[in-house]
Amino acid sequence: MEDTFKHKGWRQQMVTKLAAKGISDQRVLDAIGAVPRHLFLETMLDYMAYEDMALPIRCGQTISQPSTVAFQSELLDAEPDMKVLEVGTGSGYQTAVLCQMGLKVFSIERQKELFDVTKPLLAKLGYRAKCFLGDGFHGLPEYGPFDRIIITCGAPYIPADLARQLKVNGVMVIPIGGKSQEMVRVVKTGEGPDDLLQQRYGDCKFVPMLEKDVRCLT
Ligand code: SAH
Repeated sequence: MEDTFKHKGWRQQMVTKLAAKGISDQRVLDAIGAVPRHLFLETMLDYMAYEDMALPIRCGQTISQPSTVAFQSELLDAEPDMKVLEVGTGSGYQTAVLCQMGLKVFSIERQKELFDVTKPLLAKLGYRAKCFLGDGFHGLPEYGPFDRIIITCGAPYIPADLARQLKVNGVMVIPIGGKSQEMVRVVKTGEGPDDLLQQRYGDCKFVPMLEKDVRCLT
């Protein structure tokens, strides 16, 4: 698979549409303009890769819609070289966008089949994310604390372990809810378990964040 002139043209049109929809962070627009989304999809979906839609990937999961990837990336408000934890590697597309923005990305996926395909794909395309197979509810305590945390599946609540692994003044972007969710930007204002300022950014729809056990903050 390659990144042809045709794909580059479609991608540029998509970036123009995202800007028209209100994405204004130039680093996000540049990253989306650079990452070949079609290479994160099955070849037969190639022609739909630059439509603003979520599309199916392995294991009954979905690659997030480009406008959602852009919006979550913008809400993160990250500076280059920051350490970012992503929960839900999936296809690796959001991971690649974060890498392209110059962030140090640590990404967790619970589906082995996705992990086994996506980790080598990211490496092959030159994105230097550290990929882990595991349960995102527990984060990566040995690699934290993180400047930013992004959850790309619908979480039932703010997982306590993730809040602990966020630096003070750090930001977590997390869709919270059941069948549909609300996009929440959490700012950690202190070391206490309640020092989490929550800002709400409207309804959204993600595949669920699945848990084995319950460790809950809110
Ligand atoms: N950012 C990805 C989104 C994939 S969908 C992309 O654009 O391709 C969300 C992913 O979260 C799925 O791959 C799902 O398996 C994963 N997921 C769900 N619950 C999880 C958990 N507890 N820990 C880690 N990953 C989880």
